[in-house]
Amino acid sequence: MRINVLDYYDEADWKLMREEASRHETPFLVVNLNIIKQKYLELKKHFDFAKIYFAVKANPAKEVISLLRDLGSNFDIASRYELDLVLSLGVTPDRISYGNTIKKARDIRYFYEKGVRLFATDSEYDLRNIAREAPGSRVFCRILTEGSDTADWPLSRKFGSHPDMAIDLIMLAKELGLDPCGISFHVGSQQRDIGTWDSAIAKVRYIFDYLKGEGIKLSLINMGGGFPVNYISKTNPLEIYAEEITRYLEEDFGEDNPEIILEPGRSLVGEAGVLVTEVVLISQKSSTGVDKWLYVDTGKFNGLVETFDESIRYPLYSEARGEPVEDFIIAGPTCDSQDIMYEYFRNPLPAYIKPGDRIYWLSTGAYTSSYCSVEFNGFPPLKTYFVQ
Ligand SMILES: *Cc1c(COP(=O)(O)O)cnc(C)c1O
Repeated sequence: MRINVLDYYDEADWKLMREEASRHETPFLVVNLNIIKQKYLELKKHFDFAKIYFAVKANPAKEVISLLRDLGSNFDIASRYELDLVLSLGVTPDRISYGNTIKKARDIRYFYEKGVRLFATDSEYDLRNIAREAPGSRVFCRILTEGSDTADWPLSRKFGSHPDMAIDLIMLAKELGLDPCGISFHVGSQQRDIGTWDSAIAKVRYIFDYLKGEGIKLSLINMGGGFPVNYISKTNPLEIYAEEITRYLEEDFGEDNPEIILEPGRSLVGEAGVLVTEVVLISQKSSTGVDKWLYVDTGKFNGLVETFDESIRYPLYSEARGEPVEDFIIAGPTCDSQDIMYEYFRNPLPAYIKPGDRIYWLSTGAYTSSYCSVEFNGFPPLKTYFVQ
């Protein structure tokens, strides 16, 4: 089935983005700030009890950060470079959390000196660094969760500690003079199974209870990101996520009323972006070959990293007319043989598409522009144009 662009964008938004696209030479990303605003307000509406920390890595453009700053968002930061960027845009340090559990002692000190007082951890070494370089700060401990097999871009294995180790870390944090405030988790990005939040929240409940017995009262649950974007694979709408997750929280934490943090990245910015490419070449590998290869002017190294293992399946839209449709192998322009986006997942495109035609990669506002190589094969990082 060919992609219908109106399944992804309403007519006015698409028109605006399409018009902006017509003014520029490919490849580039068009980001519609109004869609980000709508996404933020929608999340806020459905989780009115939560504080939102935008995961800056998903799209660190100044325009995006400024918009979210004005809407009242907080920011989840992973490095001193992101910190400098966000501070330079006038965000105050009380709206920033250092959410990366992998960090150097001197970077912790840097955050502390800039006024940040909220830190994530998942190991003893890091915790001792925080106690030394950021004395008295609030810390939360990240736990491992299940869900790697139902997240299209899993994060769960690299980060987090077993709940029993989290308990030890929280007790140690107290001994070290820190303010251990709670537990965090991330069920994996583009998480299609809402039940993964249920089991994660149950683990947090267990930790809260255990530590209460030790005289430590936790008050914060940071539920990370993982909320979905509309790609090819179907997901539930945000509303259903919110309903279900709110119910899990009420069941496990009804009376406690913990402070809740969300760290959306993908779901705030993904649908706001369209990556515009041009077909460079269409070829076959032999006169009897059945596969047609279609090469576009951007690839894995210029913004489409999340096609690794064909994990994220972006909807591809072409204005080339006519039936029938044909399935192409889609690859990028660089001289690296890994630069193939889709070989097994076949994208139906018009059979008469030709070099020079454009292909629009829908829902590419997250994890694209910030993931570009600097100049592999000389290709520059993607430009972004903003509309609103
Ligand atoms: C990447 C990341 C997020 C954002 O996750 P999404 O699935 O893009 O919403 C949130 N929190 C942390 C700690 C992250 O590393």
